[in-house]
Amino acid sequence: MIRQLRVQTKSRTELVDITQGVQRLVTESGIRSGVCYVYVPHTTSGITVNENTDPNVGRDILKELNKVIPFDDQYSHNEGNSAAHIKSTLVGVSKAVMVEEGRLALGTWQAIFYCEFDGPRDRRVFVKVMKD
Ligand code: ZN
Repeated sequence: MIRQLRVQTKSRTELVDITQGVQRLVTESGIRSGVCYVYVPHTTSGITVNENTDPNVGRDILKELNKVIPFDDQYSHNEGNSAAHIKSTLVGVSKAVMVEEGRLALGTWQAIFYCEFDGPRDRRVFVKVMKD
């Protein structure tokens, strides 16, 4: 069964901490031990796991991604969002997080982020929780 989160982004590029929403879906699944698979069904989005304590970490990640992959670089794709497609491929569209005792087994400083690369948009995140 695929569970879903909705994410409404506000900026062109943005990291949104979705950890609590994912944990809610893990709790609703009733699964105590297994793997939680988080996936975005979009071509200009990503999923990453990183620090949420200092919001500057996310800002720096976006700043450097935007530097390495500029918004405009004479791209061939005529939709005007090639940079977003490239960032999606680099970051990846999914992450697997282990579940133990009904909780996401994240490190102290870790959180799950939805990565917006072509916002603002209304997005979906698919979550599947699999039992051991
Ligand atoms: Zn496009």
